[in-house]
Order: sequence, then C-alpha cells, then structure tokens
Amino acid sequence: MARNTDSVCRMCRREGMKLFLKGERCFTDKCAIERRNYPPGQHGQGRHKFSEYSIQLREKQKVKRIYGVFEAQFRRYFSLAERSKGVTGETLLTTLERRLDNIVFRLSFANSRAEARQLVRHGHFKVNGRKVTIPSFLVNVGDKITVRERSQKVARIVEALELSQRRGVPDWLEIDREGFTGTVKMLPQRADLTMPINERLIVELYSK
Ligand code: SF4
Repeated sequence: MARNTDSVCRMCRREGMKLFLKGERCFTDKCAIERRNYPPGQHGQGRHKFSEYSIQLREKQKVKRIYGVFEAQFRRYFSLAERSKGVTGETLLTTLERRLDNIVFRLSFANSRAEARQLVRHGHFKVNGRKVTIPSFLVNVGDKITVRERSQKVARIVEALELSQRRGVPDWLEIDREGFTGTVKMLPQRADLTMPINERLIVELYSK
C-alpha cells in the first residue's frame, strides 16, 4: 500500500496554511504554521514567483493532502465528477467529503483523517450494521455509521469523542455520542465546506 512519508507539518508549510492533519496539536501553539509559516527547505524564506500552473498545482496538492488521497485516486474522483451532472469542482469536493474516513473524522470518532483512515482499516466501524474496512467507501443519505460494540472502549475513539465538543459536527451529519452512532442526514453541499479551497483552479489544471 502506498504511503506518504513526508512530515505532515511540512505539507501545511508547503501549502502556506493549516490543513489540520495532526488532530489536537493543530489547535495549539506547537503548530508549525504558528511558528514557521513559510515553505520548508533551504530556500523556503526566499522570494518566489508563482506561475499560473504552479498556483493550480498547489491547489490540487492542497486538496489531496487535506483528504489524504494519492494522485491516481484523485484523478478517478475528478473523472467521476466530470461525468456527473453538477458543477465538476463542487462535485469533486462533495464526493471527497462522503468518504467514510472523512465521515468518521467529521463525526468526531477520530482526531484527524489519518487516524480515521487507520481506525476504519482496523475494522472499528459498521455502516448500516455491516463492518466496512474501506476508507474510500462513499456514504449516502440515511446511512448509519456505528462504532462496533467491542471498539467502544478504544482509547483513541473515546478521547476523540471527549475532545469533539469544541469542534462540533456539520449540519448534514447527526451524532448520538452515547450510542456511538452517526447518521448522514443529507449529502454535503459546497457551502458546507469551510476550508479555503478554489476548486476552479483544479478543474483548469486538469483541463489543460
Ligand atoms: Fe498542519 Fe496541524 Fe502540523 Fe499545524 S500542527 S502544521 S495544522 S498538521
């Protein structure tokens, strides 16, 4: 299985913004963006001229990093979005939001998407009563995501739920903390995504 071995904080510094890849640490002053908000590497603090292509490329890399997907898979999401009825860029983002690892993170069963991905792979969750171990599984309206009974004592899940009060859950999802269950009330819309993403740049990049 492919793995990204780059330091996650370096990714945020490369994109020049917090991508919230490390859970609680991202909300503290230990965050690398708080301390060194310039690109990593020897020439990180130098002057840079950005071409149109590099701006588009960075936007794509940013989204891939936020959701933790690799190029081939990202391309597949893009093709899917292109073939569907809606606006391509918006469909791309809302499809990424429907990934099970993202839902587990959004429901506060994990502190980051990377942690959520690992928890899903380890079989801690059920969707509509069936165990699902595929992080890219796409949820639908009405789906119920449950922490398996034997996993309800897993420290990482319990801690994430305790810390989650501050983060809250998006309007399109519903959480029953006592019952370790989340429900997809409706599909996410573009307006539900609050990270600063310009998806138009990604569409332009792939349309070249
Ligand atoms: Fe990014 Fe979080 Fe690291 Fe800050 S602490 S640089 S937000 S991954």
